[in-house]
Amino acid sequence: MEVLLRGGPGDGQVVPGGGETVRWQACLYEITSERAHRRGRDLRVYRHRVDCCEPYGRGSEDRCE
Ligand SMILES: [Zn+2]
Repeated sequence: MEVLLRGGPGDGQVVPGGGETVRWQACLYEITSERAHRRGRDLRVYRHRVDCCEPYGRGSEDRCE
């Protein structure tokens, strides 16, 4: 199954994944109830966890590394 990432460094990426969280590079994304239409399919939306980058003083435009 593939999922759509929303927010953070991986915004807009479509990646294989499932379950409660998906890891993208150094970032964690968590499941939401939303779905989005991409590449002709309905994909589950995963959102960038607020506790991923922000505790380190990084904005959503920055990378997590
Ligand atoms: Zn992050």
